[in-house]
Amino acid sequence: MPPRVRFAPSPTGYLHVGGARTALFNWLYARRHGGTFILRIEDTDAERSSDDMVSGILSSMKWLGLTWDEGPGVEGPHLPYFQSQRLPKYRAAADRLVASGHAYYCYCSPDDLAARRQAAALEDPVRMYDRACHALPAEEVARREAAGHPRATRFLVPQGTTSFTDLVRGHIEFAHEHIEDFVILRSDGHPTYHLSVVVDDGEMEVTEVVRGDDHISNTPKQVLLYEALGTPVPAFAHVPLILGPDKKRLSKRHGATAVGDYERQDYLPEAMINFLALLGWSPGGNQEVFSRDELIARFALDGISGGNAVFNVEKLDWFNQQHIMRLSAADILRRLRPAIVGAGLWRDTYLTSESAWIARVVDLLKPRARKLHDIVPALTAFVSDEVVYDEAAVAKHMRPDGVRDHLAAWLEAVRALPALEPVATEAALRALAVDRGIKAGILIHATRVAVTGQAVSPGIFEVLELVGQARVVSRLTACLPA
Ligand code: GLU
Repeated sequence: MPPRVRFAPSPTGYLHVGGARTALFNWLYARRHGGTFILRIEDTDAERSSDDMVSGILSSMKWLGLTWDEGPGVEGPHLPYFQSQRLPKYRAAADRLVASGHAYYCYCSPDDLAARRQAAALEDPVRMYDRACHALPAEEVARREAAGHPRATRFLVPQGTTSFTDLVRGHIEFAHEHIEDFVILRSDGHPTYHLSVVVDDGEMEVTEVVRGDDHISNTPKQVLLYEALGTPVPAFAHVPLILGPDKKRLSKRHGATAVGDYERQDYLPEAMINFLALLGWSPGGNQEVFSRDELIARFALDGISGGNAVFNVEKLDWFNQQHIMRLSAADILRRLRPAIVGAGLWRDTYLTSESAWIARVVDLLKPRARKLHDIVPALTAFVSDEVVYDEAAVAKHMRPDGVRDHLAAWLEAVRALPALEPVATEAALRALAVDRGIKAGILIHATRVAVTGQAVSPGIFEVLELVGQARVVSRLTACLPA
């Protein structure tokens, strides 16, 4: 049977990088094994959940390319995929548990509980629920029900221990004496997380629950619920937390934690996916840069390590550059087209008569781009007649005595060349430098500033070829005194 896994975010905030990594592991696992990836929105906490957060989460998932097979907008056999629309199912499950003796009604108000807890605080600071309502005689329960007393439903934790085999952590055992009779349905009819997650994972036939380590202590309660409901218990894989470089839990102190921030900062989704995949999972071997398909082909839950994973933004930057390098020029142009249009630099001929030339320009600029959009301003010198001069570069490389005379001679040499083929152009420049008894660098730097306006650029001879002889001549001319 192909696996069925799910990502179950609570829409009480943006999609955090930790959540995205959990979603990614589930997605990779499903894709690797031809399984189903379910997206379920756990919005039973109406006060803390919002539609904006739901749309933010969905949009970050889409940006990352984590497509879901069942869930909002796609639907599927177990709809609805919003827990707030599934409340009757949880109530019915709670009723079943009461009827089978696995749960009982609790009429204790929060004030009663607080008062009793306070009274006992000295002897027992971690006091658990005292089961007062479990001891109520049937007639008393009937009387309170008839009177419409508000009541919660509590799970009756049996004696013993619960164990499960975590696919990451191995065998885990919890003694029930440390688990109180936890509430499964609140007095307002809303389920607690334990009940809704078990009912839904059961009904949605989830086979593996892959989620953050912070849920490990919840798992025995959920295992107890599965058993009491007679639902097969899924396998669990608890993924280690993501830490900041100081080894503390990743938080805003460390920088952006929302996936949307990385999207706005112009990281490629491919880079983000690659980076997140390797946070806590290792494919083995030395390869680090992986496409989406390569990740799918290699993903295995047993490659998840128990050690915590450190979020290092320099590493993300590195992945970003690696993935920019892997994009074809045509793909880059497609992605950047709106920005190129916005900068007034777009021509439809990039797609037709100029396509080979613009592809060479983009390929030349690619290795220097830290972010994809760095390519847009760098295009200016190639595609437009306007050059934006960096004053500091002009001062440094064009003002020193004699530079303009050297440039004038170089302009004549450029004019005399049949074309600006890089090897020939470089030979001509070096010959001129020898002739004039100067370092070639003086001509190279001055030419770079004259042609691109900037002190840094890709290899100048490739730049000159792609800018084209006519523009190079007119830019050099413009830099010389009339
Ligand atoms: N809604 C829960 C959360 O956001 C999901 C926990 C789980 O995956 O079981 O933490």
